[in-house]
Amino acid sequence: MTKIKTFWINTVDQYCSGIKTVTNETTRMIRTTKSKLSPWNVQLKARRKVLTKAEETTIPRPTVPEFADVVIIGGGSAGCNALYHLAKLGTNAILLEKSKLTSGTTWHTAGMFWRLRPNDVDIQLLDGTLRTIKQLEEETGENPGFIQNGGLFIAHNETRMNEYKRLVTAGKYFGIEAHVLTPEETKKLYPFIDEKSFTGAIYSPQDGTIDPSILVDALTKSAKGLGSKVIENCPVHKIITQENDCSWKSVTGVETPYGTIRTKCVLNAAGVWAGSLAKLAGVNIPLIPMKHAYVVSEPIEGVQGLPNIRDHDGSLYIKVQGSSLQIGGYEPNPIILKSVPRDFSFGLYELDWTVFNTHVNAMVELVPKLKTTGIKSTVCGPESFTPDHKPLMGEDPKLSGFFYSCGYNSAGMMYGGGCGEQIASWIINGRPEKHMFSYDVRRFTSDQVRDSVWANERSHEAYAKNYSTVFPHDSPLSGRNFKKDVFHNLLIKNGAVMEEAQGWERPGWYQPGKITLIPPYDYYGAYGSPKNKRNDYAEILKKDYTFDFPEHHDVIGSEALSCRNKAALFDLSYFGKYYLCGAQSQEAANYLFTANVDREVNRTVYTCALNKHGGVEADCTVTSIEAGSGGVADPIFQRKAFYIVAGGMSSYHTFAHLHRVIRKKGFEATIHDATETMGILSIQGPNSRYILEEITDKDFSDKEFPFSTSKIIDVKGCLVRAFRLSFVGELGYELHIPSQSCEKVFNSLMEAGKEHGLKLAGFRAMYSLSCEKGYHLWNSDLRIDDNPIEAGLGFVCRRYGDYNGKKAVNNLRVNGVKRKLVHFHLKDKNTPLWGLEAIYRDDKLVGYLRRAEYSYVYSNSIGQGYITHPLGENVTKNFIESGKYEIESMGKRYPARAYLHSPFDPENKRLQGNYN
Ligand SMILES: Cc1cc2nc3c(=O)[nH]c(=O)nc-3n(C[C@H](O)[C@H](O)[C@H](O)COP(=O)(O)OP(=O)(O)OC[C@H]3O[C@@H](n4cnc5c(N)ncnc54)[C@H](O)[C@@H]3O)c2cc1C
Repeated sequence: MTKIKTFWINTVDQYCSGIKTVTNETTRMIRTTKSKLSPWNVQLKARRKVLTKAEETTIPRPTVPEFADVVIIGGGSAGCNALYHLAKLGTNAILLEKSKLTSGTTWHTAGMFWRLRPNDVDIQLLDGTLRTIKQLEEETGENPGFIQNGGLFIAHNETRMNEYKRLVTAGKYFGIEAHVLTPEETKKLYPFIDEKSFTGAIYSPQDGTIDPSILVDALTKSAKGLGSKVIENCPVHKIITQENDCSWKSVTGVETPYGTIRTKCVLNAAGVWAGSLAKLAGVNIPLIPMKHAYVVSEPIEGVQGLPNIRDHDGSLYIKVQGSSLQIGGYEPNPIILKSVPRDFSFGLYELDWTVFNTHVNAMVELVPKLKTTGIKSTVCGPESFTPDHKPLMGEDPKLSGFFYSCGYNSAGMMYGGGCGEQIASWIINGRPEKHMFSYDVRRFTSDQVRDSVWANERSHEAYAKNYSTVFPHDSPLSGRNFKKDVFHNLLIKNGAVMEEAQGWERPGWYQPGKITLIPPYDYYGAYGSPKNKRNDYAEILKKDYTFDFPEHHDVIGSEALSCRNKAALFDLSYFGKYYLCGAQSQEAANYLFTANVDREVNRTVYTCALNKHGGVEADCTVTSIEAGSGGVADPIFQRKAFYIVAGGMSSYHTFAHLHRVIRKKGFEATIHDATETMGILSIQGPNSRYILEEITDKDFSDKEFPFSTSKIIDVKGCLVRAFRLSFVGELGYELHIPSQSCEKVFNSLMEAGKEHGLKLAGFRAMYSLSCEKGYHLWNSDLRIDDNPIEAGLGFVCRRYGDYNGKKAVNNLRVNGVKRKLVHFHLKDKNTPLWGLEAIYRDDKLVGYLRRAEYSYVYSNSIGQGYITHPLGENVTKNFIESGKYEIESMGKRYPARAYLHSPFDPENKRLQGNYN
């Protein structure tokens, strides 16, 4: 191995000495790589001519229009795809590019396209890109730059192989052909591979490679043919905004050196410059530019047409480029850039081999021929990365009309078409068609987008772990303790193992008697930062690095069963807590919510909030309240107000949605965020009432405190808003406690709970319990692409009065549904399910699990997923109940029972406190 390395470094040294002359002449940033370019790059070379000053002055001044419906800033993959899809929807946008099309990151992309992803929305977006490519081909009669050379995923161990098998199963419903291969079978497809160096592989023949310049040409030509405009050499210097009387800020235009364009809609598709552009508009996004690179080998005879390779365990990819191989990957120490100069165009950086060398061993082990092959050129360019390795899309919650399609994390070619399609619909129809929450810029709170240290840490970790196995339960080590709720220290003392959601620490599960602290992020020892000597938290996370039941499966089970049999205490403090007030608060609430919220004071209602297409934007509880005695739990206000509580992970999204609708409809109402002023303790289970009665003098009987109501109570001298509610299907109460009283109430509950078997329980137990009961979880089995009727939530959609999305709800009510949410129980007791498993009815593929858990009551895995009719007919109760079901997990099918409603306490007796 040493010998190999020496040879490699010699080759590299020779190469680097060649490039130094170029570097010396042009400072650190170089505008040309070595002159040896393969045929693919010849075309690019022609495009990336750097203009001399004299040439620059001879460029004709572009003429910009005075007005545009939509202005797109940036002529890379993101901007051009958006331009095309907007044109297809009948909107002729104007694309402004500061230099030439593709001159940012797009021109030097590796352009690989994969179809399999551990996420159904990603898969659908990739499908959107393929659809765009096919559409372009049909329109132009020419291939818009897609080569279908197939893709291989290489596994070096059994766990990775299991992950791949999971992907193959997940891809089935979406029609993705994929095969599990032995090393020998893989070698037949890729003769240069050493079959002894890995465990197995999967092959996905529909994967391929995108030529960026051909694609961008085709997209812009087609869009221009439909009336859109592209203006090159036209930088945007300023985003013009205005503020109305209610402090709503909106976009009114852009300024260029050639004039101002008035517009109400700007799409920021400026790649690595998107962050600075957002700042120009007075808003922030968590986008971190980094250097990202691949090297190109000298020609190797016989590589033409071979599939692309992703070796996740080696953090490496290999792609054929003409008769050479391109090798790139994700390093533990990527170079993070403060910014990229404004005039950087068709530029590259000198490759830093101290970063790239990390790939050498893995690549020569997998393809030994690379030991003796030199490096012809290196391509190291700027690319944008984000804290969760997902793009930033959608409208800025603080600036109306300012949209994003940026932050593509080295995947902007493959997601370009799908995301272009969605952003066009987002702009024109108000919302995307797909469930874009994990792409929506509103998945980050204002605190997160403002904090560059947080974004930096998290983006580094997301980059370094990009090829790590995606386990069902994992948590980041970076950016932790960003937001701690009032109970944090008390819970840590009681053994909480924290997980992170929307910047908050929340208890995942408990190890009583142990204290698990999360140390500051050590960048995994990169950049010379000292590695944490001890990280118990990281060691605990590793126990979840399995596709089997983890070691602490039964510990979580004991929390869940304590809730079913005695009592459990959940900390829900990070949930969103909002007051909706104002002269038209009732009108606003009626329009926002599907359920009847015009109820008597202190009545709590579970409801959905929809978009106009009937998609579920949020689910929450809404309580009509009257003016109180003052303080955060019992505020003073005029007229009527509502107290809204939304799940923590989606609380900012919920807030932004409600806020946007109120603004657009012009209701005289406002929403106040009280999230950080109160903690929430939820006490659930048959003994919950006894415990509460011990610490207050209130009567918690059904008569005095019925289900779905709220009241202000006194707990040991602290004023608390109490609710009779349950997210787990038990007799239970939620206490919303002003921060200063939280510790006292917590200690009182824990003390009183001792003799009633009260146990602290985390979110892992809570999700298992809620799934067991058949409740919904927004962002998994209830999403923007689901209608409440499909989700079995018709009962929260009122038949009278108007509300946002009602037409779409009524349509399905009258005409029936083509898909329906169904609850499943696996008959087998020993197989875990994690979500994305395929659902078969009478041997036909009808859906996949959106969400899966383990039921500790039934001792088997359970899940929920939407099923369709194989003939495209309506899905009826009879259809659901008459079939024979199987769930496929990792390539193996298991018999399952299907239920329209969960079999757990179907009459809701436990909610009523009836345990007889
Ligand atoms: C080494 C490497 C390998 C990669 N491999 C792959 C891969 O295999 N598969 C894949 O899918 N993706 C890959 N990518 C990622 C992919 O290439 C990018 O995600 C994609 O090209 C980004 O496109 P974009 O439109 O967001 O940005 P860009 O292409 O950078 O476009 C942004 C444009 O905005 C313009 N602009 C900026 N500011 C202004 C302004 N004020 N006014 C006017 N114009 C402005 C810029 O000039 C630029 O042209 C790779 C990237 C790198 C670096």
